[in-house]
Amino acid sequence: MQQKNITEYGKEYEIKNHPDIKGVQIIEGKNNFPISWLNKQGYCEYQIYLENMKGIETPATPEMTHGSDIHNQLENIFKQEATPATFEDAVEASKETASMSRECFVVAPEYGIRGFIDEIWMKPEEIVIIDDKPGRTPYQSTMNQVRAYCLAFKDMTHDDRQIKAALRERGTDNLFWIEIFTPEVEKQIKFTIDRMHGLLDGSKPFIPTKNPNKCRSCRYKRYCEHYKRK
Ligand code: SF4
Repeated sequence: MQQKNITEYGKEYEIKNHPDIKGVQIIEGKNNFPISWLNKQGYCEYQIYLENMKGIETPATPEMTHGSDIHNQLENIFKQEATPATFEDAVEASKETASMSRECFVVAPEYGIRGFIDEIWMKPEEIVIIDDKPGRTPYQSTMNQVRAYCLAFKDMTHDDRQIKAALRERGTDNLFWIEIFTPEVEKQIKFTIDRMHGLLDGSKPFIPTKNPNKCRSCRYKRYCEHYKRK
């Protein structure tokens, strides 16, 4: 597969930072959150409240640091070998010749989401959107994250090729979960994204997890009034 480093986009949007919520932008007049937050939401919505509404900062865990080291190494190797391309040209050219890109930015103002796809394979017959994760377990939260990338990509391109969402064990070629982005999956992820917007605009409450195991490993437990010890 050709390697394309996507460095430019044909479309530009009006972007402002949200005045009160760290990480939320207002794009084309609508709140827009990072797609990776769907992963946090699936773990515990209250983490988002503590980190992004209350502004609590905690040091990165060793797992996080290790994950981003691997990520950066792969990214640097890719950049040395890839050819620069615009997003639109890469999508169009892939209808004839397959290509792969890393760190592909996607944004969908209509749905209020944006983020970086770890790796995308654009082939003449299908698009495969891959998110790298530690371990081999497909959690609802990680599946939702990659589904939202699919939604954003579809919204940006209106491409009629089949889109697949995949999770890969970080640092390996092991795609341990793969799913076709069907209309049913699309409907379900839009519902989840709507819930996130409800949290951010204050119309829905941030619900803390009931799972004490999650609390035990949580970076915010020192600051959280809902911390469950057992
Ligand atoms: S301590 Fe528990 S309830 Fe509080 S933010 Fe962490 S996981 Fe959520």
